[in-house]
Amino acid sequence: MSEGEFGRIALIGIGLIGSSIAHAARRAKLATHIAGYSRSAESRAAAERLGFCDSIHADMASCAKDADIVVLCLPVGMLGPATEAVAPALKPGAILTDVGSVKMAVIRDAGPHVPDGVHFIPGHPIAGTENSGPESGFATLYDNRWCILTPPPGTDEAAIARLTAFWTGLGSKVEVMDPKHHDLVLGITSHVPHLIAYNIVGTAADLENVTQSEVIKFSAGGFRDFTRIAASDPTMWRDVFLNNREAVLEILQRFNEDLTALQRAIRWGDGDALFNLFTRTRAIRRSIIEAGQESAEPNFGRDHKA
Ligand code: NAP
Repeated sequence: MSEGEFGRIALIGIGLIGSSIAHAARRAKLATHIAGYSRSAESRAAAERLGFCDSIHADMASCAKDADIVVLCLPVGMLGPATEAVAPALKPGAILTDVGSVKMAVIRDAGPHVPDGVHFIPGHPIAGTENSGPESGFATLYDNRWCILTPPPGTDEAAIARLTAFWTGLGSKVEVMDPKHHDLVLGITSHVPHLIAYNIVGTAADLENVTQSEVIKFSAGGFRDFTRIAASDPTMWRDVFLNNREAVLEILQRFNEDLTALQRAIRWGDGDALFNLFTRTRAIRRSIIEAGQESAEPNFGRDHKA
């Protein structure tokens, strides 16, 4: 990969995901210029202070102008309007991509605004933390993490190869997937687990006969691991559930059936059913560690004194 190989990069949105792209692109010297857009003066000031962009813009079109790769790093509900806003500024041959956690809705909302001659390749890095904003980004976020691309049928193969090389340069491994399948896979691996975390933390907060201070004091029993996920950005996750409705509802249907079976096993004292499930789930965790997608350290590597 030669220095500045990807030319001018425009990041429409410089929160956790956008600023991490900037840091990782800087680290690997992928771009000749990194332009960043943010709507708020606070985020623009933070980006200025942290210095991860070469130019900072208050409007999307000026950020996207002359860019070779434009990456939309906004909440899913904003991807359609943002595409409409940048469309007149996009140069022929540019790649327009995004990082949204839902892919069918992006194709539905952004696709119609993409001008002829621009390569539209939706994407989704499977990497993140519960933090948001320009201060939360870091260069290693995408290292050894998957990035899924969902190019519409007929997309130029050279453009797909170029975007693949870009994400590889940021540290990722890349897989191409059908967008509907993406939404189902991420529904089970990410969206429904977040919903469960939001729900259980909400339930604990609403319990009448267990106090808030008891919930916090004894949280190491498992609850605190749900609170990390349930601290994720409310705007982002509202948009995920509004835009991946079908897949999430389909998975929840199955989830409810399986939960009912577990309730029954507990009610009837069916220890074998419980033991067999818990044995199977333990094996899944082992395979995630073996695949390098999680640390094997006990207690997620937390300091036991803490
Ligand atoms: P974030 O840290 O909250 O950043 C969001 C960015 O969008 C900020 O630049 C914010 O600008 C801007 N923004 C929000 N609402 C806007 C609006 N109505 N108009 C214009 N700009 C707006 O979020 P993020 O974690 O980077 O997420 C960005 C995208 O990445 C989302 O689509 C999410 O689904 C996807 N994603 C997230 C993760 C994750 O774990 N966080 C992982 C993979 C993909 P201001 O700061 O100026 O308000």
